[in-house]
Amino acid sequence: KLLSAFPVTDDEGNIIGKGYLWRDITKEHEVDKLKNDLISLVSHEFKTPITSIKGSVETLLRQDAEWDENFKREMLIGIHEDIGRIQELVNDWLDFSKIDSRAISLNREPIRPCVVVDNAIRQLPKHFGNGTIIDNNVCQDMPLIYADRMRLEQVLSNLLTNAIRYNDRTPHITISADSDERYVNIRVADNGIGINDKHLDKVFDRFYCIDAGWVRRTGGTGLGLAICKGIMEAHGGTIRAESTEGVGSVFTVSIPKYKYTGDKHEKA
Ligand code: ADP
Repeated sequence: KLLSAFPVTDDEGNIIGKGYLWRDITKEHEVDKLKNDLISLVSHEFKTPITSIKGSVETLLRQDAEWDENFKREMLIGIHEDIGRIQELVNDWLDFSKIDSRAISLNREPIRPCVVVDNAIRQLPKHFGNGTIIDNNVCQDMPLIYADRMRLEQVLSNLLTNAIRYNDRTPHITISADSDERYVNIRVADNGIGINDKHLDKVFDRFYCIDAGWVRRTGGTGLGLAICKGIMEAHGGTIRAESTEGVGSVFTVSIPKYKYTGDKHEKA
C-alpha cells in the first residue's frame, strides 16, 4: 500500500487541512516484477546461445584456417542446436503473452486420447534423453476428448520433456489414462529427481525454477508448466502434480470428454 499526502483547501485556496491517499499498488509491483523477470530472462537465456553462435560463425569465417569437413559439421550442429534454443524461448514467450492476456484461442475437435499421446511422443527431439524408456499404456478404446489437438500435444510433449530433463537416471516414463464421468485423465509418471512438497504448487507459476543451475544446464524457461496450465484451463480442464523427492513425479491432465448429441457437438 502506498500513502501520499495532499493539502486540503477551501474555495479561496486557503489550506485548511491535510488529506491522505492510500493506494493499493500490489498490481503495479507485480507488473514491475514481471518486467524485471523478463529482463533477466532475456539477458541470461538469450545471451548464451547468441554468444555461442557468434563464436562458431567467426571461427568458420576465419580465412587463416582450413577446417576439415567433420569439424565444420560439428560447428553447424552446435549452431543449429543454439538456434533451436532461441526458437524455444521465443515460442514460449509468444505463447505466454497470449495466455496471460487470455487471448489463447482453441481449435477444438473430437479426438482420441491415444492419437495425441502418440504424436507427443513422436515430437520429442531425436537425440534428447538417450536411452529413455517410454511405456505407453493409453488404450485405443478410451472415450473421445474435445480438445485442440496441437495444444494438447504441446502440453504432453512439455511433460515428457520435463520428465527427461529433471532426471539423473536413465529416464523411464509411464503414460496411462482413465476416464470418469466428465474427463479423460492422462498421467505422465517419471523416475526423475522429484519435487519437494513446498515447491509442488508453485511449479505451475511463471518463471518458477526450483534449481536454476539445473535449468541452465538442461535448458528451460520456467514458463513451460505455466503455459500448460493456461492451455488446460482454456479447455475447461486441469493439470496437477504429485511427487516424491528422489523417486519421481506424476503429472495428470484432465481433459473434458466429447459427447455427440444428435446434430450438435458438445463436450460432456
Ligand atoms: P522449465 O522451463 O524451467 O522446465 P517448467 O515450468 O516446465 O519450467 O517447470 C518448472 C520447474 O518445475 C522446473 O524448473 C523444475 O524444477 C520443476 N519440474 C518440472 N517438471 C518436473 C519433473 N518431471 N520432475 C522434477 N521437477 C520438475
